Amino acid sequence: MSNQYKKKEKESDTHSWEKVERKLPDGFSYYYLICKECHLVRYPGPELQKIQDYSKKNLFLSVRDWILLLLHIGESIYIDNPKKNYIAGITRFQKMLFLIFYEFAPENDIPTENPGFYGYKYGPYSDIIDEAIDFLISNEDIIVTGVKSSSKEKFSLTDKGNEKAKNILSKLTQQQREKLVEFRLYWDQKTTKGLVTLSTS
Ligand SMILES: [Zn+2]
Repeated sequence: MSNQYKKKEKESDTHSWEKVERKLPDGFSYYYLICKECHLVRYPGPELQKIQDYSKKNLFLSVRDWILLLLHIGESIYIDNPKKNYIAGITRFQKMLFLIFYEFAPENDIPTENPGFYGYKYGPYSDIIDEAIDFLISNEDIIVTGVKSSSKEKFSLTDKGNEKAKNILSKLTQQQREKLVEFRLYWDQKTTKGLVTLSTS
């Protein structure tokens, strides 16, 4: 079950943390820390707890939520061919989440956890995404088949993960859902070109 995705090992005291404060339109506020040099993101425990409590009744999506959603949204696209509803390769998740965080979520007013991207040789990379995938696999929300750490590695939802994803989806408006379908379709059609640097691994 253990994935050997590259983790960035660095002592926390070597980072130069900067506080980022956020306030949502309904008045909910929180903060997180981002390293000015490597862009690693940390949510202090009490802030994380606050966000988790808030997200029970309000729209605030974690990286884990987005991974489940991106997989689930394929269901409405591949309704006649459920076997096509997978996402191939962890690099694709990294790229999708990068655009989700910087474009899709802000454009569609969806408060989202900052995955903390840093420059990686194949494009932006986030350890939080790796960790979220590891978590979802060990929690049996997603399953992975194919060659590990390659573009042939296929991620898909288990029934349990699908139930969770349905619940997350129900928090989105009809318009946000339609946009998400477009987003997923766009990526699935994009088999040879990437918006971010393409990895052929
Ligand atoms: Zn740092």
